Amino acid sequence: MHPFDFVAATSVADVNSVLAQHGNRARPLVGGTDLLVQLRGGRFELDAVVDIKSVPEANVLELNGSLKMGSAVPLAEFYENQGVRNAYPGLIDCAELVGGIQIQSRASMAGNLCNATPSGDTICPMIVHSAQVHITSAKGDRTVAVEDFCTGPGRTVLEDGEWVLDITFPAPASGFGAAYERFIPRNEMDIAVVGVASSVTLDGSGKIADARVALAAVGPTPVFIRDITALLVGKEPTEENFVAAGKIAHDAVSPITDMRGTIEQRRHLSGVLTRRTLTKAAERAKAG
Ligand SMILES: Cc1cc2nc3c(=O)[nH]c(=O)nc-3n(C[C@H](O)[C@H](O)[C@H](O)COP(=O)(O)OP(=O)(O)OC[C@H]3O[C@@H](n4cnc5c(N)ncnc54)[C@H](O)[C@@H]3O)c2cc1C
Repeated sequence: MHPFDFVAATSVADVNSVLAQHGNRARPLVGGTDLLVQLRGGRFELDAVVDIKSVPEANVLELNGSLKMGSAVPLAEFYENQGVRNAYPGLIDCAELVGGIQIQSRASMAGNLCNATPSGDTICPMIVHSAQVHITSAKGDRTVAVEDFCTGPGRTVLEDGEWVLDITFPAPASGFGAAYERFIPRNEMDIAVVGVASSVTLDGSGKIADARVALAAVGPTPVFIRDITALLVGKEPTEENFVAAGKIAHDAVSPITDMRGTIEQRRHLSGVLTRRTLTKAAERAKAG
């Protein structure tokens, strides 16, 4: 492995300084469950790795109507927080299934997002929760919607020197529900063949005021299907309408055939899991 400096940052300024100095030859580290595997595997070389786990602003988990999650918060801390569990069950769905307990104790949602694998389990759930990514650097700050963050396999909108400080989830509207499911050929510790996240917001009369569906592992990036929103808004949350949404998902995705599944299987799963997660999201929306 190419030797690199290891910097244990204790402030945002520390991180900015390392990233500004090394450009694309430095990267932040949280759990390292992707980064260290990739460095050892020789996928790329770095001159510096900056650990952000001791940066206070990256460790916040503030639930105050909306939810602000620092980029270094481990998945286990996230899903063990009772307030978060009550308010965001659709995010708990994904946080609890990444890897196993050891991975969840170190790995972060921000790391999953910045790694930008199309199969990343937490990205689509963030999209259907309309999450916003707070990006910072020595030059300033900006905010990007999660659906616009990944630009290709392993690629993101982050420019040299930039990193993710935190991710914000709006307060769930009254009548909001969300769910995530993935298909894997065994019970755990596998990469999604297909993953689907859905959210539904019901209005006072029980009709769909908003719906968001995003799919993992069926394209070069997580796929947010706006046509499903257009189809469902104003309709009843019925089986028939959710089957129709599944058909849109089936046709809209562009999967590949690989060792985990074929194009046909992935299209089929896209339809089935879209229907299932919309149904579960609507049940949660009704339950409040
Ligand atoms: C055994 C095993 C099982 C796994 N199972 C799953 C699974 O079921 N589902 C799944 O989706 N993934 C899985 N993974 C992959 C991995 O655990 C997840 O992607 C995890 O969420 C990554 O988080 P991390 O904190 O470890 O990221 P790190 O490895 O620390 O970082 C990942 C990448 O993001 C960058 N990065 C991290 N934080 C920031 C930041 N704040 N700003 C900018 N860039 C940043 C890093 O530089 C690196 O390029 C598994 C991995 C292993 C080893």
